[in-house]
Amino acid sequence: MAEKTPAPQRVGMFGGAFDPPHWAHRALAETALHQLKLDVLHILPTGHAWHKSRVLSSAADRVAMCELAFGDLPNVQMDQREIHREGPSYTADTLRELQSEYPQAQLFLVLGADQLLSFKNWVRWQEVLELATLAVANRATNIGADVPLDNATETDLSSVDLPFELLNMPLKNISATAVRARVGQPAQSVDALDVLVPEPVASYISQHHLYQTPT
Ligand code: ATP
Repeated sequence: MAEKTPAPQRVGMFGGAFDPPHWAHRALAETALHQLKLDVLHILPTGHAWHKSRVLSSAADRVAMCELAFGDLPNVQMDQREIHREGPSYTADTLRELQSEYPQAQLFLVLGADQLLSFKNWVRWQEVLELATLAVANRATNIGADVPLDNATETDLSSVDLPFELLNMPLKNISATAVRARVGQPAQSVDALDVLVPEPVASYISQHHLYQTPT
């Protein structure tokens, strides 16, 4: 008789606009998989991002870039449920769904330090805390494409009165904003983008003429 595969016990969710996904996102996913010993990590591009004021690139482009940025990592599952959800999408709803899909599992919510600092603005944040352990990577305060990493300063999390597990990831001062700004500059080659995003993502941005106008 064939052996039954054991049900995942440790399940992570990592949501973001991923507009575009960059090296820090990938490092965060890799660190979470390894440090938290995740059986599966769901990568969830946001649908209607209630907390972002700018209009995002199309869901199709962001999903395609996520496949290119994370697709080769073991135990990663691309998850488009937030894109397909009607109306605003809340993490609490996604975690409830994951809880019913993995009733035995411990759930982890993977996020960066900036999101931890604004966590109490999230819709139903208390419910999120009941459903999942927060797994947080520190983030450089001097975020930007042109700031050398050795000048990066950690975000001060000492005032945070929420339980969370710190992910042991080297500080990265990359942001999607900086990537978009760099693409918008004249005479940027795909090579110049490689320090910010994985090469297949850089090629996708170039081939699909994304981020040509500043946002
Ligand atoms: P934008 O610049 O457009 O606001 P972003 O770079 O913050 O985008 P998101 O897609 O909004 O990227 O981020 C998804 C998640 O990844 C968030 O939890 C965010 O805190 C985390 N994250 C993004 N960049 C970093 C980084 N450099 N270090 C640590 N965490 C990061």
